[in-house]
Amino acid sequence: EAVISRVIEVNYIEGSKDTRWSRSDFPWSKKLEANNKKVFGNHSFRPNQREVINATMSGCDVFVLMPTGGGKSLTYQLPALVCPGITLVVSPLVSLIQDQIMHLLQANIPAAYLSASMEWNEQQEIFRELNSGCCKYKLLYVTPEKVAKSDTLLRHLESLHSRDSLSRIVIDEAHCVSQWGHDFRPDYQGLGILKQKFPNTPVLALTATATASVKEDVVQALGLVNCIVFRQSFNRPNLWYSVIPKTKKCLDDIDKFIKENHFDECGIIYCLSRMDCEKVAEKLQECGHKASFYHGSMDPQQRAFVQKQWSKDEINIICATVAFGMGINKPDVRFVIHHSLPKSIEGYHQECGRAGRDGQRSSCVLYYSYSDYIRVKHMISQGVVEQSTYASVPRRNSNASSDRVLETNIENLLRMVHYSENDVDCRRLLQLLHFGEKFDGANCSKTCDNCHRALSYTEKDVTNAARQLVELVKSTGQQHSSSHILEVYRGSLSQHVKKYRHDSLNLHGAGKHLAKGEASRILHHLVIEDFLREDVKKSDLYGSLSSLLKVNESKAQNLCFGSQKVFIRFPTSTKVAKQGKLSSAAKCSVLSEKMGSPLSAVPAQPQSEADLNLS
Ligand code: ADP
Ligand code: MG
Ligand code: ZN
Repeated sequence: EAVISRVIEVNYIEGSKDTRWSRSDFPWSKKLEANNKKVFGNHSFRPNQREVINATMSGCDVFVLMPTGGGKSLTYQLPALVCPGITLVVSPLVSLIQDQIMHLLQANIPAAYLSASMEWNEQQEIFRELNSGCCKYKLLYVTPEKVAKSDTLLRHLESLHSRDSLSRIVIDEAHCVSQWGHDFRPDYQGLGILKQKFPNTPVLALTATATASVKEDVVQALGLVNCIVFRQSFNRPNLWYSVIPKTKKCLDDIDKFIKENHFDECGIIYCLSRMDCEKVAEKLQECGHKASFYHGSMDPQQRAFVQKQWSKDEINIICATVAFGMGINKPDVRFVIHHSLPKSIEGYHQECGRAGRDGQRSSCVLYYSYSDYIRVKHMISQGVVEQSTYASVPRRNSNASSDRVLETNIENLLRMVHYSENDVDCRRLLQLLHFGEKFDGANCSKTCDNCHRALSYTEKDVTNAARQLVELVKSTGQQHSSSHILEVYRGSLSQHVKKYRHDSLNLHGAGKHLAKGEASRILHHLVIEDFLREDVKKSDLYGSLSSLLKVNESKAQNLCFGSQKVFIRFPTSTKVAKQGKLSSAAKCSVLSEKMGSPLSAVPAQPQSEADLNLS
């Protein structure tokens, strides 16, 4: 197996710092402003919209990382309106496309879509229009399958191109290209053909998923050239985050939480299985809430009906699998509750992102138990987890490749476990770190449970453990994931770990005395502080990915051979709670009696040491 790490030079330029793009004296500036007001009814541009539009209209390839609800559509719809020719938009879901087209037609912007499920003569009519000398459409939406499978479409695009009428190519939800992302769609990987066929047509790729590895995958797979990247903070200041230990009384807790904080307001409860959705909805109905459920085994009419009831506020709570959410544009969602562990931090961030689009304060509460981790992991391995709707196409991978996908999925899930178990660091800091964004926890202003809890901390000198972990990464060849390193460090005896025992010097089990959460926080800290880096591992045969830890030599030297020390804050009161052997259920009820705020959660502690052994 070859380890190719960043072999391909990725070409991109940060656009956000270049003031050229924010100017309003481009030849098209006046027209843009007028149409933004007149056609779209917007008073102004949102952050980065003007910049992105200027860059794409200047003919550059552009990659936009903008949070959900940030206003990505405008960055291609407005150029499509003011440029001659037609804009091709690749979007993953027919229902999303239909929603967009409805809005465009309402604004009198002619648009059409092509999908495999459409009637043949309906498609013919659109092709005829594309062929005509003066095509009326400004935008043509297609699904990625259509690009992959329809030669007819490619022929028509070539013909448009030869008549100088293909003005721009837009790849919406571009993270679907990447196996790193949470919504991998194989057909997205074939979209590189567009840049090959039309090298001079500007490409605009848009996503709300922004890890560095996803970004590189997208730029590479689409073949973007000297691409300009615009990204903005993914922090959502009006969302209040907390993690609460999940107990047997979880449904009572949810009922109480809603009644105390959001009664009769609109919210989503994400559940793992279809049965959970129905159970949770039923229980909430009994408690007097207007609740309903939504999942993949309902037929499309049923789903549309529930979604409509919800949009019209006839019901206010939807208990749903992740299948619910794409294209949901309801501005006043006041809470998003996770009844069980989300599958990745990206997924979690995006699901939470459906709350508070109107900028008003909203709650994001995650009910966490370690046993849910085991459950989700099992379901992922069995392939029975309901996917978000992007990924509704069956995977056509070979076995070896799907092993890798599985590995990646489990690693993503483990990060979510670490996030949930972390009872010290700012939730925003942790989430944003995952998107490669440095966030100062002081700016959270106590809007997450960890910042809110007024605990006292002790600084602990963890230099020794930090050195050992760096040595361990080095001596095992820098080709293992963080979870593997932790297993070795804490002395796991699983076969998988034993294999590497001889490489690990005397460090196998050196961290036995540390609690698992402590060891993982130290390792996490080493990544945050850049002593270690998480790198992308590619198997050249299948091109799939997983992450591995590398040592950043120049920084690590000061730690291993110099005088640099590493300190981490640990909460003092957690120690007390542990000594007192309070169960998480007891801790929860004690605390919730004392403080009624939505953020009065206590840290979600793993139930027992035995639970923590990942081997
Ligand atoms: P994204 O695709 O980034 O999730 P959308 O393009 O769907 O976001 O836009 C989200 C909402 O923001 C839409 O309702 C849209 O009309 C609104 N919006 C976009 N740009 C502006 C703007 N400049 N001013 C006001 N509202 C805007
Ligand atoms: Mg969008
Ligand atoms: Zn915080």
